[in-house]
Amino acid sequence: MKFQPDKNGYYGQFGGAFIPELLHPNVKELEDNYIQIIESETFQKEYTDLLKHYVGRPSPLYLAKRLSEKYGATIYLKREDLNHTGAHKVNNTIGQILIAKHLGKTKIIAETGAGQHGVATATVCALMGLECVVFMGETDIKRQAPNVARMKMLGAKVIPATSGSKTLKDATNEAIRYWIQHPDTYYLIGSVVGPHPYPDMVARLQAVISEEMKKQLKEQTGNENPDMIIACVGGGSNAAGAFYHYLEEEQVALIAVEAAGLGVDSGESAATSQLGEVGVIHGSKTILMQDAYGQIVEPYSISAGLDYPGVGPLHAFLHETKRATFMNATDSEALEAAFELTKTEGIIPALESAHALAVLPKLSLKENQTIVINLSGRGDKDLETYSKHLER
Ligand SMILES: *Cc1c(COP(=O)(O)O)cnc(C)c1O
Repeated sequence: MKFQPDKNGYYGQFGGAFIPELLHPNVKELEDNYIQIIESETFQKEYTDLLKHYVGRPSPLYLAKRLSEKYGATIYLKREDLNHTGAHKVNNTIGQILIAKHLGKTKIIAETGAGQHGVATATVCALMGLECVVFMGETDIKRQAPNVARMKMLGAKVIPATSGSKTLKDATNEAIRYWIQHPDTYYLIGSVVGPHPYPDMVARLQAVISEEMKKQLKEQTGNENPDMIIACVGGGSNAAGAFYHYLEEEQVALIAVEAAGLGVDSGESAATSQLGEVGVIHGSKTILMQDAYGQIVEPYSISAGLDYPGVGPLHAFLHETKRATFMNATDSEALEAAFELTKTEGIIPALESAHALAVLPKLSLKENQTIVINLSGRGDKDLETYSKHLER
């Protein structure tokens, strides 16, 4: 089980829990209980029932015929875009809210960048009748007004982070500060990042994606293994979920796609594996974009979900061991791919997911190959950006 973390949460040299002393009891409580809770019959029943009847799982595995013809391979789309709230994020928030309830917590805090994770968290808090506080950078609050309105309508309190660049990393710092002061709260993290056990816990909750993929591929092709799985990477949760049950199947190629923004070397990018170095961010050792003084470099991408300055420790390890191939796509390549999918299949993807689609022309695929692309979310939230590029 090479790709499972050790008991201290390390994947090779990456992971661990670098947290202030005051948070130890909180993190330890979670660490001591999360696997037992996840594997319990009660949790499994509640989790699967909600995924089925509330989220709408299993999400379809769709054979994209016209896209396949264009690229000369058999291409399937794993339709996470069809989940309630429009992306894969809800798989994680449903799981963690149940874990919080098992731990007897009544108040939830979360950080959010573009607001997608904030909305997914506010949604499950409304569902469970729990109090919800979301930290969001002041700059992001201005840029992402519709998601702020959604969170408020769902009953969440949105607290602006006013330090630093007033974006995701500042919101995360605020959330951690609040958590230290209110140790009775549950911190619901939105990706495979943060101190152990979060990366492993979130990967296990997103693993439902590859669990379903195996069954669906077996049904539709007779073989549960594709030749290749492609997923975009911000923090890495949708990719972790799509890769999870294939990590030890070395014959399945795993492709992780990062956002190159205006170009990897343009200074306006979020291609962490290309630009990052080993360091500590948000409580775990991983690769992150930093300057010569170890200060975090502000990432950039057209897609708000991918402009995170690090990747989770599992992905740092997949990169280092070359188990996954890291590729990237620029803003304009992602836009191109989004319009292409819309016109060939009638599916408007999230800008994040469009990055995964954008590597298709770079892969020289063969006719007998089966490819699965994880379509992490739908594009409704990105229409304003898309509408600026309709004349193409
Ligand atoms: C948040 C988000 C991502 C990026 O997050 P990961 O943790 O890397 O999956 C990708 N796609 C969509 C649709 C998102 O909302």
